[in-house]
Amino acid sequence: MQRKETRKLGNLREAMLRMKDLKLAGLTSEKKTSSIEVNGVTIGGKEIILMGGPCAVESSAQMSQSAETVKKAGGKILRGGVFKPRTSPYSFQGLGREGLNYLVQAAKEQDLLCVTEVIDAQSLDLVVNNVDIIQIGARNMQNFELLKLAGKIDKPIILKRGLSATIEEWLLAAEYILAAGNPQVILCERGIRTFEPSTRNTLDLSAVGVAKEVSHLPVIVDPSHAAGRRDLISSLSKAALAAGADGLLIEMHPNPAEAVSDGPQSLTPEQFVQLAGELGVVANSVDRVYVCAGQRDSDTLESLRAEINNLDQNIIGQLATRMQLVRKIGEQKRLDRVKDSNREKEIMQRLVDLAEELQLPSELVKRIYPLIFEFGVQSQIKTRVAQDRDIEQPFFSAGSK
Ligand code: PEP
Ligand code: MN
Repeated sequence: MQRKETRKLGNLREAMLRMKDLKLAGLTSEKKTSSIEVNGVTIGGKEIILMGGPCAVESSAQMSQSAETVKKAGGKILRGGVFKPRTSPYSFQGLGREGLNYLVQAAKEQDLLCVTEVIDAQSLDLVVNNVDIIQIGARNMQNFELLKLAGKIDKPIILKRGLSATIEEWLLAAEYILAAGNPQVILCERGIRTFEPSTRNTLDLSAVGVAKEVSHLPVIVDPSHAAGRRDLISSLSKAALAAGADGLLIEMHPNPAEAVSDGPQSLTPEQFVQLAGELGVVANSVDRVYVCAGQRDSDTLESLRAEINNLDQNIIGQLATRMQLVRKIGEQKRLDRVKDSNREKEIMQRLVDLAEELQLPSELVKRIYPLIFEFGVQSQIKTRVAQDRDIEQPFFSAGSK
């Protein structure tokens, strides 16, 4: 039985290795992960990136309210479709150029980046110089001419997985963009069509792990188009982070009941902010970070101060836990080897990189950490001295009898 399982896994690995046409999207011994830096935001770094906004851009007010909510939630990227590839030709097809202006303006107001979907050469031409990221939707994943055009531009591309595409087909679609000259591809799992009718699609979270096993490209998850219903978005988002996603693309609308498209799967602004406030712990549990200014009713001086007090308490709590661990480590060290400068350098480098990614002055880390190290070393020395004394104690007490 066990042998059969091992063989099955072996076959899977072989199938992965057969994806040998992933000359650029595939892992190499030097390149296991890649991150994409776009106007101050890094996708595929330590930080989880939240992108949100309505399915379709409808009005200037709708986009301004959405941008405000994304900002409040700690999101970095505003979404909104201006060209909608709809299943029915009679459904709303998007506001085009007018909608693009609303999207760009709203993002600018809140200092957010923005992303919109393109469906053909003309729409790509229209948006390319106005948005920060371009989306190629599930229905166009194998529109090879569009993929080649996306490969000719200097903007990151979010490539959604097709409704019925295998992971291999999805990665080969990414390879088209890379092979045409654009190295900035972000994969997006958004649910696949299965026999299960209780959700719009089935979110394939194993695809995150599989894509990352085979490819170095960042992977984000869109739980909205997978579920098709807002009650599942929170849990699926958290599950996506736990599964290794680098970011989330979530539909949110100031008034979902009035949305021209995908209202039932759109979160309300309150739900969006609430979810964002809950992402941090999940991110931390998988060694990632989500930075969110927190959920507040309004930015009053008191509420902001209450939040700062809470954070300070957490910082001291974490420092106390760190110190306890440092003491435990001290028990295993030789007294003459307590200070480990190489380890300190390595920690410092990692934290300086993280601070830079999170736009925190690295000077702050450079000043605080030497103190933390120094107190750590002192406490390890004390631990070791006390331990040695304890070991010697029985000898003395036996001798004095
Ligand atoms: C969208 O993001 O608005 C969209 C149409 O998504 P998908 O291509 O995944 O259906
Ligand atoms: Mn949608």
